[in-house]
Amino acid sequence: MAGIKRGYDGKIAGLYDLDKTLGRGHFAVVKLARHVFTGEKVAVKVIDKTKLDTVATGHLFQEVRCMKLVQHPNIVRLYEVIDTQTKLYLILELGDGGDMFDYIMKHEEGLSEELAKKYFAQIVHAISYCHRLHVVHRDLKPENVVFFEKQGLVKLTDFGFSNKFQPGKKLTTSCGSLAYSAPEILLGDEYDAPAVDIWSLGVILFMLVCGQPPFQEANDSETLTMIMDCKYTVPAHVSNACKDLINRMLQRDPKRRASLEEIESHAWLQGVDPSPATKYNTPLVSHKNLSEEEHNSIIQRMVLGDIADRELNNDIINIIIILLLLLSLSYQAYAVS
Ligand code: ATP
Repeated sequence: MAGIKRGYDGKIAGLYDLDKTLGRGHFAVVKLARHVFTGEKVAVKVIDKTKLDTVATGHLFQEVRCMKLVQHPNIVRLYEVIDTQTKLYLILELGDGGDMFDYIMKHEEGLSEELAKKYFAQIVHAISYCHRLHVVHRDLKPENVVFFEKQGLVKLTDFGFSNKFQPGKKLTTSCGSLAYSAPEILLGDEYDAPAVDIWSLGVILFMLVCGQPPFQEANDSETLTMIMDCKYTVPAHVSNACKDLINRMLQRDPKRRASLEEIESHAWLQGVDPSPATKYNTPLVSHKNLSEEEHNSIIQRMVLGDIADRELNNDIINIIIILLLLLSLSYQAYAVS
């Protein structure tokens, strides 16, 4: 588990070399960085604590708590937290392919449904995992989905509005961005936590296949009216099955909105591996117990991560696997201590 390290502002310089900016949010800037000793590339989310009010500080602590809790191949890993007097640095797994918003903006009419399905299934897989842990994201939007091109995956990030929920109990905090927010959040009502993520999933799927948001008018008050009336138009090129799934998620009444089980078993989402990530996530327990498939998967990961190439002979690969095993065991021992 990522531990919180206390330090002084210059300390990050000794541990990570900060490089170019990858993205910006309201309170944070996300930078590419390299670990000084290992050379490992990471993303560092730098939060200026002096600019945060009490509410934003609360969200920040919640973000750290939830990101430590959720560990899934389709969710960006939080490696460590460095807390200095004025800044908080979240050291994150680095996405190498930009975020989904920029990607969608490059496709005027949206992605092919085949590609949209591949990415959407992974986002649904991650949210389904979060909800099983009773964690609601509450700020799902394409900007918070990052591409991991080498792994062929997308991963969720930015748990700044996330929270724990108790099934059946309602939440009250209003959060998220207007264009992606469910009507009940905008009304300021008490709301059923998981249903607000389902609404945002509907907005994301719409954007993937249409290339633009479903509710985007000339000004905020018109956008708000369209959301409240649940008025949107799906372009003709979108298949009926996909339209139906969008319609099942973009329901004004949260009780009528599709559940995650319904989404996962919907006709449009069939024929796609919802967890291509799992095969890249073999737990390294003992190299002797590895099946042929796990062995090949580890080699594939080593090749993808530039640790090895395919020509490397088997003995050397086995030595590297044992070394990785030892490293992972000593890391686990360190993490639990
Ligand atoms: P917001 O104001 O929307 O809540 P934020 O301040 O919480 O944003 P993030 O959404 O976490 O910041 O990150 C801002 C941008 O930085 C993202 O949209 C994405 O482009 C980029 N980014 C974030 N995390 C990563 C990562 N792990 N790897 C690569 N890029 C990332």
